[in-house]
Amino acid sequence: MALVEIKNLHKSFGTNHVLRGIDFTVEQGEVVCVIGPSGSGKSTLLRCVNLLEQPQEGQVIVRGEDITHPDCHLDAARQQIGMVFQQFNLFPHLSALANCTVAQRTVLKRSAEEADRIARANLERVGLGEKILAYPAQLSGGQQQRVAIARALSMDPALMLFDEPTSALDPELVGDVLTVMRKLALDGMTMLVVTHEMAFAREVADRVVFMDGGVIVEQGPPADVIGDPKEERTRTFLRRVL
Ligand code: ADP
Ligand code: MG
Repeated sequence: MALVEIKNLHKSFGTNHVLRGIDFTVEQGEVVCVIGPSGSGKSTLLRCVNLLEQPQEGQVIVRGEDITHPDCHLDAARQQIGMVFQQFNLFPHLSALANCTVAQRTVLKRSAEEADRIARANLERVGLGEKILAYPAQLSGGQQQRVAIARALSMDPALMLFDEPTSALDPELVGDVLTVMRKLALDGMTMLVVTHEMAFAREVADRVVFMDGGVIVEQGPPADVIGDPKEERTRTFLRRVL
């Protein structure tokens, strides 16, 4: 069974038909990178997978459960999915450590000791073991993004969603975040990553999905989709970004 199965997903905002029938799956342990021009619906797709948006039509099935079904327990479904945004969305008044413990305690009802232990381990994992007591304003953008990754990991998600996690970073800080993501991929984390980092997608993705105009134009191994695209729309996009 696929970890995530997306079937005929449609999402409109008013008359703007943004997702026009999206079908694809993410297998356990797979890294799927989604690429495509601005406005093609990549963020909307991720937000539908995480139920931050309700699609008008279609299904998102996580571990066999249709999480778009009205009877589905939204909080339970969301708990399985970690999300990292372009803007890190840390709590500015909380330390790195507290940013990583608060949802563990309130949502997962973990004890303070357990939440603390798990948060420390995940901050170590992203290379911030020395910064656990720093506040977001005392951290670089790349460090803040790594706290956001540690925070998501602390909830033990089955799937991690990344929406252009390095797009807001100064160029010299991008590498550290990509290194952490590469390590997660090697550890077997299932990841769905919207990115403009073609070198990362080429190296780390098991599959690349090219979206344009709310549909999947082409998908396959990176060597095909990025290295030898079949569709003219994919070639045009790659000529602009490579
Ligand atoms: P991408 O991430 O590929 O750049 P988005 O999914 O952000 O694309 O946006 C796709 C389209 O959906 C755009 O036309 C955008 O204006 C529209 N859109 C996205 N979110 C909303 C929203 N909350 N309300 C209205 N329109 C939206
Ligand atoms: Mg986007």
